[in-house]
Amino acid sequence: MSKLVHQGHLARKRFGQNFLQDGNIIDSIVSAIHPLPDQAMVEIGPGLGALTEPVAERIDHMTVIELDRDLAARLATHPFLNSKLTIVQQDAMTVDFAELSRQLGQPLRVFGNLPYNISTPLMFHLFGYTQAIRDMHFMLQKEVVNRLVAGPDSKAYGRLSVMAQYYCQIIPVLEVPPTSFRPAPKVDSAVVRLVPYAELPYPVSDLQVLARITSQAFNQRRKTVRNSLGNLFTAEQLKELGIDPILRAENITVAQYCHLANWLAENPSQQE
Ligand code: SAM
Repeated sequence: MSKLVHQGHLARKRFGQNFLQDGNIIDSIVSAIHPLPDQAMVEIGPGLGALTEPVAERIDHMTVIELDRDLAARLATHPFLNSKLTIVQQDAMTVDFAELSRQLGQPLRVFGNLPYNISTPLMFHLFGYTQAIRDMHFMLQKEVVNRLVAGPDSKAYGRLSVMAQYYCQIIPVLEVPPTSFRPAPKVDSAVVRLVPYAELPYPVSDLQVLARITSQAFNQRRKTVRNSLGNLFTAEQLKELGIDPILRAENITVAQYCHLANWLAENPSQQE
C-alpha cells in the first residue's frame, strides 16, 4: 500500500497531513497534556483521531477544528467519538478562540499535532487570544520548538522567540522522530507546552509597535540595531534606553524589546 495512505485515507500534503502512528509517543503526549473531565479541550487538526481518541477516553466532551472536509465527516460518523465531539469544519486560522472560550464558559486547553506548513502563523493567531487560553500543547518541527525557546545570543533566537516569550512560558516536552508518523515527515519533530502568563512580565502598550520593531530588527539580523532600527531610534536614544547601538537583533532581550516598544509608543513623533 502507498506510504501516503493511512487507515484508508490518502494524506493531503497541502493540509500538512502526517498522522501519528506510534502508540508510545501518543501515550506520552496525552499524559503530558493531562486532560481532565470538565476542562475545555480543543484540538486543532484531529485528522484520523490519533490524539482525539485517547483524549476523549478521559473526558466526556471536546471540540475539534479540522479543515479537511473528508476527515471532519469521518469523525462525525466515528462510532466512539461522534457523541463526544463538537466538530468545527473550518480553517483554525479563522477561528475566534475568545468566542469559543465564552461558549464553553472557561479558558481553553488547546492542543494538536499541527500542520507544519501553517504552524508559525497559527501560533501568532493564537497569541492574539492568550487571555482565553489556559495552555497549549503542540507538535511542531523541532527547529520551530528550538526557536520558541531560544534565548538571546543564539542563532535560533528571532521574532518568533520574542513574541512567543512575550505571551507565554514555554516548556519543551518531548522529541519525536519521523518514524512516528505516516507518511514520515522529512524533519524531526518535538512537542512543546505554552502557558500564557496570567500577568505579562513586560507589558507593552501597543503590540503593533513591538511587532514592527522585532520584524525590522530581525529582518536585518546581521546589522547593528543602530542601522536596522535607525529610522526609529537615534544611537543616543538607544543608549539612553540602555541598549548598546552596536548590538545586533539577536543580542537584545525580550524585556529590552518591550522597553523599546513602550518608549516608541509614547514618543510617536520619532517614527518616520
Ligand atoms: N492529529 C492527527 C494526528 O496526530 O495523526 C493529524 C495531524 S496532521 C499533522 C495535521 C491535521 O491538521 C490534519 O488532519 C489536517 O487536515 C489538519 N489541518 C490542516 N490545515 C488546517 C487548518 N488550517 N485548520 C484546521 N486543521 C487543519
